[in-house]
Amino acid sequence: MYTLGIDIGSASSKAVLMEDGEKIRRHFVIQAGTGTSGPDKLLDLMFRDGPVSRDDIARTVVTGYGRYSLESADGQISEISCQAKGIHHLLPGARTVLDIGGQDVKAISIGPRGNVLSFYMNDKCAAGTGRFIDTMAKVMEIDVSQMGDYDEKSEDPVTVSSTCTVFAESEVISLLSQKKNKEDIIRGLHRSVVSRALGLMYRTSMEEDFVLTGGVALNKGVLRALKEELDRPVYITEEPQISAAVGAALFAWEQANKK
Ligand code: ADP
Repeated sequence: MYTLGIDIGSASSKAVLMEDGEKIRRHFVIQAGTGTSGPDKLLDLMFRDGPVSRDDIARTVVTGYGRYSLESADGQISEISCQAKGIHHLLPGARTVLDIGGQDVKAISIGPRGNVLSFYMNDKCAAGTGRFIDTMAKVMEIDVSQMGDYDEKSEDPVTVSSTCTVFAESEVISLLSQKKNKEDIIRGLHRSVVSRALGLMYRTSMEEDFVLTGGVALNKGVLRALKEELDRPVYITEEPQISAAVGAALFAWEQANKK
């Protein structure tokens, strides 16, 4: 039996096709989120080349910020529950998840069966989110996918004191005009993102294993700063953007089997 999990985020749309609630058969990520043509393009991509067609899907569950925007869905479930379920499937030892996406940060404490024990979320402001990093990358004329490489070359990291995105942008412009290295500014920015995120994480029970998820987990600089700060291993999955969509596909499978 095939089920589909879709995660429509603020920055990207992800889809996972699962077989029998176990095997991931196909998955796609499009860097265009809710309110864009991203979700439609994602579905076209999923079914364009077969072998599975839309008619073969037993159930579709949608999660993410834009989860109510897809009319063809059979159900919607929150990102917190889907993230916990998806991560548990991919990394069964995970107990604390830090999810940094386009416009929010979530710290989730999960139980041994993938159930949510507690969670904390910052979705009130862009500070410490992917949007913060994207804004700074733009000011420095660097593609966000290269931020990790720049970070790696930093020898004398700069302290970025503003957490507010607007003030931090001015601070970065000022640092650039003082001829500070982009590498050192970037390491400072990644440290600032991590210190902001840890404020949320310290409210959870902080059990190991720790996992970093969301698009920002693709940024090696943020991962490095987090490992340094926690002084413990931090795991990421092979495709850190798709775990909530995996969870949605698993919920779809459970619901289809209850019918
Ligand atoms: P959402 O679920 O809210 O749509 P994502 O989990 O897709 O957001 O995260 C989006 C963020 O991930 C972007 O704002 C960007 O900072 C970061 N990101 C996306 N792709 C990459 C990449 N290749 N390298 C580094 N960072 C990335």
